[in-house]
Amino acid sequence: MTHVFHRHLRRTPPRAVSANGVYIEDADGRRYLDASGGAAVSSLGHGHPDVLAAMQAQMGQLAYAHTSFFTTDVAERLADELIRTAPQGMSHAYLVSGGSEAIEAALKMARQYFVELGQPERTHFIARRQSYHGNTLGALAVGGNAWRREPFAPLLMPATHVAPCYPYREQRPDESPEQYGQRLASELEAAIVAQGPGRVIAFIAETVGGATAGVLTPVPGYFKAVRSVCDRHGVLLILDEVMCGMGRTGSLYACEQEGISPDLVTVAKGLGGGYQPVGAVLAGKHIVEAMSRGSGFFQHGHTYLGHPVACAAALAVQRVIHRDGLLGKVRDDGHRFGEWLREALGEHPHVGDIRGRGFFWGIELVADRASKRPFDPALAVNARLKGDAMQRGLLCYPFGGTVDGLHGDHVLLAPPFV
Ligand code: PLP
Repeated sequence: MTHVFHRHLRRTPPRAVSANGVYIEDADGRRYLDASGGAAVSSLGHGHPDVLAAMQAQMGQLAYAHTSFFTTDVAERLADELIRTAPQGMSHAYLVSGGSEAIEAALKMARQYFVELGQPERTHFIARRQSYHGNTLGALAVGGNAWRREPFAPLLMPATHVAPCYPYREQRPDESPEQYGQRLASELEAAIVAQGPGRVIAFIAETVGGATAGVLTPVPGYFKAVRSVCDRHGVLLILDEVMCGMGRTGSLYACEQEGISPDLVTVAKGLGGGYQPVGAVLAGKHIVEAMSRGSGFFQHGHTYLGHPVACAAALAVQRVIHRDGLLGKVRDDGHRFGEWLREALGEHPHVGDIRGRGFFWGIELVADRASKRPFDPALAVNARLKGDAMQRGLLCYPFGGTVDGLHGDHVLLAPPFV
């Protein structure tokens, strides 16, 4: 009998009791290799002594102070560190408790920016199919996953969804990757134009598509073309790096590899590496300046903004990543990891595609390789795979089913950087 409102109401998952390094142990003494870092969260593995010490010290000194009364040293230091290492143009970090919260804040910041600029008629967001931005209502509205949206659809703000960058299924045989990226950017431009001049607030996209996409890496030039389209129409670019950011792809931000900088970028999972619920929105200088020149107040907030213990955990995680040279390790080992996956699974009759960067890999499963025909969703391949892997002591993160007309079962591997 359980009184926890578990997501699956008819079954209770095994009870995790301890974790160390890359392993989690359950109440029956079974040990699991955490090959997906939970949901691409755990960057340093479990029980890292530096993080524990930093959290303990912060708890002893100051566990909580509401941000309407105080700032704290630790929040200031974390924001300094985030801005020091941020994509070009970022000037302030808004510190929250997780990914969905970061997305809600970014959407509202983007909207308020235009209100402050005297452009209140900008009311519309454009996002991508097969994306995931979180489960709160704003994040769900921009998320491109009909299955998650469906029961709540009447409650969601309207948003336009354009094609994701999904070369395995959607790049035409007569197109180069660059031409494909250009075609997608043109589709975005058409969607902006269709809304009418000055109506779109922002385009939001995961730099590398994660949970609902099975690790969709952008083709070369795609994000440069997207950035130009946004600039041409005065539309903000919000990059969601909640899953792919903070080193997961081998650079601190995945957008560094695309040679562009967004107006707003969200991070969460790898920021605190699972030690505390923590996320952030990094805001471009122009956004912060417009808001401080205008009302001088962001009309948004939560009780646990900038929570000192969460900030201490995040700061410690980020310091270990830099001190121990883990970005280089993710790049080098990640490359080998990809080669190894291709060697081990590349010829498997039900593996359609293996794609990724750094320690962020997706394996797309198909019923038939030649036609790329997906499995019948009724077979629930992903759920069975997750269960079988757990039986064998492996944690991987599968997703399946129909996503806005795109099918596919995939498995996500995102091991701790250590
Ligand atoms: N954005 C992306 C890209 C995500 O992968 C997720 C979670 O998987 C979220 C946002 C939502 O984050 P959270 O689950 O912390 O609310």
